[in-house]
Amino acid sequence: MVSLLTDTLYTYFCPRCGKPTQFNSERRGLCLDCFAELKGATLKQKNFKMEITVCVGCGKIRYGNSWFEPTRSNFDKILKNLAKRTQLRFYEFKVEMPTDIEISSLGQYDKIYVLIRIPITSHNVLRRGIELRINKAFCPLCSKKRSGKYYESVLHIRFSRDIESEFMLILDEFINTSMIQMEKLEVIDVKKDGAYGVVIRFSDRKMARSLLTSLNKKFSLVILKRYREQVTVEINNKLQRRVVEKYFIRLLPT
Ligand SMILES: [Zn+2]
Ligand SMILES: [Zn+2]
Repeated sequence: MVSLLTDTLYTYFCPRCGKPTQFNSERRGLCLDCFAELKGATLKQKNFKMEITVCVGCGKIRYGNSWFEPTRSNFDKILKNLAKRTQLRFYEFKVEMPTDIEISSLGQYDKIYVLIRIPITSHNVLRRGIELRINKAFCPLCSKKRSGKYYESVLHIRFSRDIESEFMLILDEFINTSMIQMEKLEVIDVKKDGAYGVVIRFSDRKMARSLLTSLNKKFSLVILKRYREQVTVEINNKLQRRVVEKYFIRLLPT
């Protein structure tokens, strides 16, 4: 027999009374009713306090020593794991977020209230609240970007004196617009390279490509050399393999 209880499909039955229920090792497999009868456990607590840490650079959420993409399903999983340290461990619940909050922008808040729905029987649903404190930090990758030691693309650009001011103007404008549109922390580092040259490092390769596209509209781009280099970057004491794109370019007036 399979019975539908709210939106959960039960295929497990309580060993004591035979009622369909969800297996929960914390309740030693018992259904909520039997568990409450034997242990006298009821959910009296109305609100729960928990805290998570979010990266202010990219929005990732920390759980243990790992950082997870700020998706709804990761958020729910992390919250359910945190709930195992509270009375909630005896229950199955669904997370109902405040509708106006996006998981990727949790870093904007100091505290949010999360509503949870706990189906007890087919017509009894408990609602509880979690007061969730949002701690802020930088994840290892964003820390690396901030220190300027992480980049994915390097452009070595040379230009002639007659197009210098126009090139600098386009570059400035590109950097300003990119900074405004950025959804997460990225770094563009510009260094002079001789009288008519610059070296630009980008923490995100898409930005480098987009600059090349803008330059291509105004100048002729002569790509003298282009290659990809394998590098190892140390992030949080772990070595990670990354690819750095390098371009050597000469800009000519059209
Ligand atoms: Zn039972
Ligand atoms: Zn980050």
